[in-house]
Amino acid sequence: LMPAVIAHRGACGYLPEHTLPAKAMAYAMGADFLEQDVVATRDDELVVLHDIHLDRVTDVAARYPGRAREDTRYYVRDFDLAEIRTLRVTERLDDEGHPVYPGRFPPHTGHFAVHTLAEELALVAGLNRATGCNTGVYPEIKRPAWHLAQGVDISVAFLEVLAAHGYAGPQDAIFVQCFDATELVRLRHELGCRIRLVQLIGENSWGEAATDYDFLRTGSGLTELAGTVDAIGPWVSQLYAPGSDGEAPRSTGLAERARGAGLQIHPYTFRADDLAPGFGSFADMVRYFCVDLGGDGQFTDFPDQVRRRVDDDADER
Ligand code: CA
Repeated sequence: LMPAVIAHRGACGYLPEHTLPAKAMAYAMGADFLEQDVVATRDDELVVLHDIHLDRVTDVAARYPGRAREDTRYYVRDFDLAEIRTLRVTERLDDEGHPVYPGRFPPHTGHFAVHTLAEELALVAGLNRATGCNTGVYPEIKRPAWHLAQGVDISVAFLEVLAAHGYAGPQDAIFVQCFDATELVRLRHELGCRIRLVQLIGENSWGEAATDYDFLRTGSGLTELAGTVDAIGPWVSQLYAPGSDGEAPRSTGLAERARGAGLQIHPYTFRADDLAPGFGSFADMVRYFCVDLGGDGQFTDFPDQVRRRVDDDADER
């Protein structure tokens, strides 16, 4: 079985993240899954954006001055969908307004907009019909506890949109991902979600959720996870230690423990312009995680390049 190529925010190495053009490009590049990050607007519509904030990828500050919260950030939750549709999307900027990846699509150029989860699912369905392929989707519920505190149960709305587009069971071409372990338990065991689930594993210091990722990486943590999810999505740096002086990288044992618990492994993020420490080339990095560690999927900003490496490695075997 070949590792799945998961287009992280679309082909975002080439076009601004989470725009429909970036998704269409990833589709054409042969990704197995297109990723959606999902956030709720003030009028409870679900849009595809990586952050609960708008300011790093849109012109919201220029278009809606005075609408920031006290922390100076502009929140998706404070805007209606109709307002969000007026924004121009740009290549991602850092907090000083510089592009995070300077070699990528030029910031503040092109004509890109925010779209809804339903619109993206319709795009994928249309492309699948037109091409005869069955490319999957890989949506992430962002910050469910934060959304609940802001007055919206995002998971319930999210499952309704998926069901309306035919995503309901383990055989469908979809994985649902979340950093919040409590929410994944709720999805599986309270809300009756039968779709394949992925526990994203971050570092406790990131503050993504109240989840203890140190525990989840232990044997007992992974065994417990296997009662709820089908796969883990670890950060690549949690899987290996770089070799010194040209030595091969060493596994931390997480991949082996996860496999022992019956879980698939879908690490993030594979960037040809930002290699993980210790790898001399993108090909070496892809091969290590997909062949040496036996990963089952790879989140990548460059789906064409991972597609090519994965296919080449399969030919060699
Ligand atoms: Ca994501």
